Amino acid sequence: MHQSSLKGQKKPGISLEHIESINTKRIKLLDIPIDAVNFPQALSIIGNIIEKETIEQKPALVFTPNAEIIVKAHDDMSFREILQDADLVIPDGSSLLWAAKVLKKPIKTRVTGIDLMQLLLEEAEKCGWSVYFLGAKHEVIKEAVSLTRKRHPSLKIVGYHHGYFDDDNLILKDIKNLEPDILFAGMGAPKQEVWLTKNRDRLNCRVAIGVGGSFDVLSGNVKRAPMWMQNRGLEWLYRYLKEPSRIKRSILLPRFISLVLKEKIRNLKGEKTL
Ligand code: UDP
Repeated sequence: MHQSSLKGQKKPGISLEHIESINTKRIKLLDIPIDAVNFPQALSIIGNIIEKETIEQKPALVFTPNAEIIVKAHDDMSFREILQDADLVIPDGSSLLWAAKVLKKPIKTRVTGIDLMQLLLEEAEKCGWSVYFLGAKHEVIKEAVSLTRKRHPSLKIVGYHHGYFDDDNLILKDIKNLEPDILFAGMGAPKQEVWLTKNRDRLNCRVAIGVGGSFDVLSGNVKRAPMWMQNRGLEWLYRYLKEPSRIKRSILLPRFISLVLKEKIRNLKGEKTL
């Protein structure tokens, strides 16, 4: 399936046709691009990229920002540019749905990074796509790989590495040798997005996806919220309660709400002066 890699330079990145052919809309939320996709559309776009793009091209970058990440990107221009340059930016989190409703933007459904990853693992097992796991602590990633192998016995997990490394070259060499179809990078935001963008030219994979703390969940170290909380968009509350170390980040949520409301007021004023 893989074609041999060109030594040296990479061809330009993927064409946007995979995204446009699915007829999705890229909108802006607080100046951050978001692709208004649902799960089937996201899977279809990523599947098309894997099946059609060659390994010589730069990989497509897929990011999954939630409200906290949107605020970080809003406050940091270079992070904002990184998200702007991504091929697919997926709305992860119920706060984004709320913001879209307030600002009348066409995001209808949230596409949680962990669920997207689990669906992609199923798809990868069915279609024979190979995957590489990068991120989390050494013990955690080992456990995530071992449990994923049990759940998906035919899945090709060609390699993995923890996310606390100093030498990029070591990881890049490993990925270059293994040429995975999908690289899942779970090193937290913005570290994973910065790392993938910085090394994009040297990454021999077809798609690279930022998946935050998903390896902690796959390893069983972090439990997801009960279904009733997930269905009511309260997963964020569960995580704050279960992982008190996250509390200091919770400040970002009221800030997200206030930024959205300020934008709403600006929009209303703008409508009045028209
Ligand atoms: N992590 C990592 N390298 C680092 C810092 C963090 O691999 O230098 C991992 C960490 O072990 C955890 C994940 O990144 O598995 C961050 O999870 P979090 O839920 O905080 O992700 P976010 O909310 O930022 O998406």
